[in-house]
Amino acid sequence: MARYTDAACRLCRREGVKLFLKGERCYSDKCALTRRHKAPGVHDNSRKKISEYGTQLREKQKTKRFYGVLEKQFRNTFEKAERMQGKTGENLLKLLELRFDNVVYRMGFAQSRAQARQLVTHAHFTLNGKKANIPSMILKAGDEIAVAEGSKKSVVFEKVADHTVPAWLSVDAEALKGKIATAPERADVDLVDLKETLIVELYSK
Ligand code: SF4
Repeated sequence: MARYTDAACRLCRREGVKLFLKGERCYSDKCALTRRHKAPGVHDNSRKKISEYGTQLREKQKTKRFYGVLEKQFRNTFEKAERMQGKTGENLLKLLELRFDNVVYRMGFAQSRAQARQLVTHAHFTLNGKKANIPSMILKAGDEIAVAEGSKKSVVFEKVADHTVPAWLSVDAEALKGKIATAPERADVDLVDLKETLIVELYSK
């Protein structure tokens, strides 16, 4: 499947916000956004007025890149959110939070969403006791994820205990398993200054 090959930090600089794409580095002084708070490229466009469409587009791109989802999947998720009861924007964010790869990342089994996606694809996890390797699967409250028996000794899972887990998830770091205790709320989405209504406006044109 196609993936972004551009330097991850460039995406953060483009959006002007930390997207946490590189694991531990994002929390250190080495973070490119901490060192250089300017969009990539030669020209400084910070004074340029952005159109309404441009603002909506940037919000969508920022969200897409934060969750590491490409356009087609993002659009499909949006359409699913539209069919649900409640606010489409909030539904979209909840569905993105419930993606298999995101849950693996939030549980601390991976340092970044990109790594989580790779680990899921390589079948390092079980879902409700069965093999599962599709990162885009939308999970639900009550689902249980565990590191597959044959992967438990991998060094990748040595740092699970150091991770802070959001309240909607519970993790047994020793047993290398976790459960979705309840569905995530809008407040659980920690992307700074995210205005999901702009994404709804963009796709409603
Ligand atoms: Fe790079 Fe992470 Fe900082 Fe983004 S948050 S600029 S990916 S180090």
